[in-house]
Order: sequence, then structure tokens, then C-alpha cells
Amino acid sequence: MNDHCNRCVGCTVQECRHHSDCEDFCTLDRVQIGTHEGNVTMDQCTDCKSFDRR
Ligand code: SF4
Repeated sequence: MNDHCNRCVGCTVQECRHHSDCEDFCTLDRVQIGTHEGNVTMDQCTDCKSFDRR
């Protein structure tokens, strides 16, 4: 169970193994954010590259 939270990184992706099991925060000290788009115009264009499927 991930009971450590990094309260600087809010996250609701419960399918990620780095998600806190008790609150909507990430447990990593650092996350990498990137994009899959050539031209970023909205939040849907950005991705958490630290995501790791449970
Ligand atoms: S690694 Fe990214 S997707 Fe996974 S819990 Fe942390 S912020 Fe969310």
C-alpha cells in the first residue's frame, strides 16, 4: 500500500502504481511531464511520463 503522499503533486489516476492509495496524490518525489502532440493546445495534450500501470 502506498501511504506516503507528495502533496505537491495531486493526481487522480488510480490505475498508476505510484498513486497514493489513501488520497488523490502521487507518491513520487519527482514526476516527468511530457506530451504526445506536436502542437500542445490543451491539457489533454499533456501526459505524465512517470505513469506505471499497476
Ligand atoms: S506517476 Fe504520474 S500518473 Fe502516476 S500517480 Fe504520479 S502523477 Fe499520477
